[in-house]
Amino acid sequence: MSDESTPVLDLSALLDTSPPSDPTRRVYTNRNLDMSEIKAIGFDMDYTLVQYHQRPMDELAIRKTLDKLIESHGYPEELRGVALDHDFIIRGLVVDKQTGHICKLDQDRVVGRCYHGYQAVSDEERRALYGTKPISLSSSRFIRVDTLFSLPESTLMAGIIEHYKRQRLPLPKSPGELCIDIRQSIDEAHCDNTLKAEIIADLDRYVIKDPDLAPTLHKLKSAGKKLFLLTNSEHYYTDAVMRFLLDGALPFFESWRDYFDVVIVSGRKPSFFQDPNPFVRLDEAGQALDEPVESFAPRAVYRGGNLQELERLMRLTGDSILYVGDHVYSDILLSKRSAWWRTALVIQELEDGIRNTLAQAAPLSRLQRLDEAARRLDDSINYHLTLTRSLERVQKLMFALTSPETHVIDTTRDKTHREIERKRALLTQTLAEMEALEMEVERTFNTYWGQTFRERHELSLFGDQVESYADIYTSKVSNFLFYSPDQHFRAARSFMPHERENLAPAED
Ligand SMILES: [Mg+2]
Repeated sequence: MSDESTPVLDLSALLDTSPPSDPTRRVYTNRNLDMSEIKAIGFDMDYTLVQYHQRPMDELAIRKTLDKLIESHGYPEELRGVALDHDFIIRGLVVDKQTGHICKLDQDRVVGRCYHGYQAVSDEERRALYGTKPISLSSSRFIRVDTLFSLPESTLMAGIIEHYKRQRLPLPKSPGELCIDIRQSIDEAHCDNTLKAEIIADLDRYVIKDPDLAPTLHKLKSAGKKLFLLTNSEHYYTDAVMRFLLDGALPFFESWRDYFDVVIVSGRKPSFFQDPNPFVRLDEAGQALDEPVESFAPRAVYRGGNLQELERLMRLTGDSILYVGDHVYSDILLSKRSAWWRTALVIQELEDGIRNTLAQAAPLSRLQRLDEAARRLDDSINYHLTLTRSLERVQKLMFALTSPETHVIDTTRDKTHREIERKRALLTQTLAEMEALEMEVERTFNTYWGQTFRERHELSLFGDQVESYADIYTSKVSNFLFYSPDQHFRAARSFMPHERENLAPAED
């Protein structure tokens, strides 16, 4: 029998090699994804194929928003001088229009912490306002900070509130009106193209030129994957930015359009996934052609369109398509829910997060051990409390106890009491060290909010959404260059607490 059984592999050498070696360039897997099953890969453009230098983009968006707030919405000129903390806002926060508070939610949609301006709202006030129940994010009261594109709005909101608070003056309008005016102002700057015109005029300043992007797309295309671009941006902007990134990047691909089998601009996501908008073919100048779209022509550009038509014309459906985007809702959640597409989320700030996690490895591992110690102390205290109560019951029930027996029980009870006191003191000390260390570690991620993906002991709302809806996630599209186009991305085996706590130590 032993000769026929499968030989046991020595895993130590295998586990030592995991491509790529730089953790900031890895693709991380929530759910198994076999790329050999993927026939087409779709890409969003802004903050996905195209990554921006965040600070200049924020400053530009804020300057344009302030122009509109002052010129069109009657806000005072002094707003231009408001001091802003550009590191204040992180992705995944929620703005409460009613109060002007900015909140971080945990995975259960419970508000974990919040700020008014740059001042933390007290725990009492937070609990009085939001309680400990989940808040309804479908309510118009709350605005989500879902993408890097939406960070400047909240940066400005917090800065303006802080400005008036410090001067002990009321806001020019209510927090709700301020919120709406900021959103309208930035929308106006987008619609009249003043914002995009400045980006196009100085692409080097705003767009990160990633030398690995063209080879990545080429590698996927050469492996037989159909590639498509599905962006909400208009033709002129898409053309300008993609030319800058891809034209001439590889000798055999003259134009950026050579990389894609289908190019869709003004895609109107999330409506693209839900409504029957028609495809319209555009000419070289971006003007609509008056002809029905019955097939996709090579190197052509289309406007609008919808999910069903795209799948019909590409002769592909559901889980043979991978969509790569940066917007948890309109790119990832809807493509998964409406189309059953497989999903990859691009999280630009993941690189900094990973670097910091590595830098904080020692305190994070100490935190884990403290957490385990606290749970064991809790268990031990509870055991000793139960023992004390049992001894008391024995004494009450047994009237005929002899003096030596009573002595033994009394001594044991006293010893147990002392043990409980000792362990309670240890627990207090452990919890205090945990809290101090946790605050220290959190500050290294973000002074106000801590880790983007976590809220204290739990996942944050954002962390939960990444885990729930993104099959894989990574910091940029070009990280796929380090993997085979037929890579089988395998998720780590997940454990329930009763499995994790009872696992034998790992062996090779
Ligand atoms: Mg995008």
